[in-house]
Amino acid sequence: MSSPTRIRALLVLLALATALLVVTTFDGSSAEGPPSSDFSELATLVENGEVDRVTFTQGSSVVTAETVDGETVQSVVPPGFTDEFAQQLLDSTRPITVDTATPASGFPWATILGTVLPLLLMVVLVWAILTRMGGGSGKRAKKQFTSRTRTDSDTSSVTFDDVAGASEAIVELNEIKQFLADPSRFHKYGAKIPKGVLLYGPPGTGKTLIARAVAGEAGAPFYTLSGSDFVETYAGVGASRVRALFEEARKNAPAIIFVDEIDAVGRHRGGGGGAGDQEREATLNQLLVEMDGFDVDSGVIFIAATNRPDILDKALLRPGRFDRQIAIETPDLAGRREIVAVHAKNKPLSEDVDIESIARQTPGFSGADIANLLNEAALLSARREKPFITQAEVEDALDRVVAGAERSSTTLSEKEKHVIAYHEAGHALVGHVLPNTDPIHKVTIIPRGRALGWTLALPERDKVLRSQSELSDEMAMLLGGRVAEELIFGDPTTGAVNDIERVTAIARAMVTTFGMSSTLGPQKFGVGVGESYAAQTSQNYSDIIAGKIDSEVQTMIDGAATEAREILTLHRPVLDTLAERLIEDETLNKDELAEIFAGLPVFQPDRDSDPRNQDPLPLDLRNEELSNS
Ligand code: ADP
Ligand code: MG
Ligand code: ZN
Repeated sequence: MSSPTRIRALLVLLALATALLVVTTFDGSSAEGPPSSDFSELATLVENGEVDRVTFTQGSSVVTAETVDGETVQSVVPPGFTDEFAQQLLDSTRPITVDTATPASGFPWATILGTVLPLLLMVVLVWAILTRMGGGSGKRAKKQFTSRTRTDSDTSSVTFDDVAGASEAIVELNEIKQFLADPSRFHKYGAKIPKGVLLYGPPGTGKTLIARAVAGEAGAPFYTLSGSDFVETYAGVGASRVRALFEEARKNAPAIIFVDEIDAVGRHRGGGGGAGDQEREATLNQLLVEMDGFDVDSGVIFIAATNRPDILDKALLRPGRFDRQIAIETPDLAGRREIVAVHAKNKPLSEDVDIESIARQTPGFSGADIANLLNEAALLSARREKPFITQAEVEDALDRVVAGAERSSTTLSEKEKHVIAYHEAGHALVGHVLPNTDPIHKVTIIPRGRALGWTLALPERDKVLRSQSELSDEMAMLLGGRVAEELIFGDPTTGAVNDIERVTAIARAMVTTFGMSSTLGPQKFGVGVGESYAAQTSQNYSDIIAGKIDSEVQTMIDGAATEAREILTLHRPVLDTLAERLIEDETLNKDELAEIFAGLPVFQPDRDSDPRNQDPLPLDLRNEELSNS
């Protein structure tokens, strides 16, 4: 049942239950039989000695009285008056016969309708709410009620061999595996194994995989819960689930408790005070209590994973909790080579598939991205009914993964095709002749995903640092597309949206974050939320500085555009050849490009803003200049 319908059903149930209660409350005294009267009237009759028989109804406070005149009066004894009324009967001057009767109408439909049914509905309601709490699926809810935690069934199948390119992490975790397998070995030396291990790093880098591998290697049961499992619930359930998780693990020690995406519970406290926050906090507190409460000798090891270590509560990171914190980074070239190999193992690769080239073409890919790439290649091969996966499928899969599916449905006009060809040729040519750009690997004007064409430059090796001249060259290359359109057609198009966005982001980051502006110097402007340079910032500087930043960004972008224009004007014949070849062949690879670019000299830009080209302004002068403006 989809959740809106479910909610509607719940509301109907709720309305029904209340309606019934209301109906029966109004209905109770109007049951058939003698006319009912006020209790005070009845009490007066008794007092005046006009009653000679009183019948109590079993299980209710209804009494029937027969008067001396043979009339019958029925009334309800108000709560609290029962004893008094009994006393009054005993004290009566006239002897009164007292009896009890089972409810009048034989089977007490009214009572059942009035009390049992609403109760039943309530029970159904509560059950329905509890089921919803489990996330909607009845099956899952049932599971939660029986055990609340799940032991991983495929524990044994994942081993360290399935994890590639994370050797540092594996060395660290190997110790934990050995501890779980043979704790005495460590006890002999009085060594303490860390209670908690925190795996952190970008998504898809294999954190979950590694945690599973530890359990698989140690042959220990693996209790896993995701941080969001705790939080989705209603009050108190998160905390009790934590308790149950640790209890279960302790019972079956040695065991591993794995909480994935722990940031969902463990984000630092403070701020809002909504019900969700309180629940999260209660869960987090319980987690802390349990972590402090268990002894490592009990053989339980707590592993957690997160993409956002920066937002975790300090209390979680305090010594004695996650003593071991392991960064799982995006793999480097060697790591990618290994990951490709691991995922190629169970696939029929043809001999021409070049693992080295795949690794080289995938900078910034996580393990999950690579797994996905090879899977795409396998799918393509299946679609093409080839006996093996060949390099061609891998290359196509790469294009697909990087830029999206080929849009064969998009039909370009001749004019558009020309514009796109010159645009891409502009990127490629500027990128080629500048000294600090990555080699151009491929240029294509086949539309894919949201891109109409693209130029792929790949670094020779992974880079950790980017220099100012690299960033400046990249800006010029990014603007090469737009500048080529202007030069050739004099009428720029929207094709450069993405390029412009990136150029602006780079220039802004150079000025405000990387300290690469000669006028403003190495200062950080703006308080960043998060780490990437596209992150939101709030202004913590004066408006004068804001103006300076803007004009500095402007200067940088203008400079980059000028360089691109110079290059493309200088090498106009090559630009034309390149564009023509693109219109003809649509895609040019590295070798074809090398042929077209043969003999082009390196272009040395003359950059004023480059601090190497000018005497650095002494600090006091710089400040003076700032305050004067
Ligand atoms: P994370 O938990 O860090 O987000 P996962 O562990 O869920 O990432 O990784 C998702 C998938 O990506 C894995 O199941 C595996 O197929 C692949 N993968 C990720 N990292 C690696 C790696 N280092 N070696 C092999 N495969 C990997
Ligand atoms: Mg994960
Ligand atoms: Zn472009």
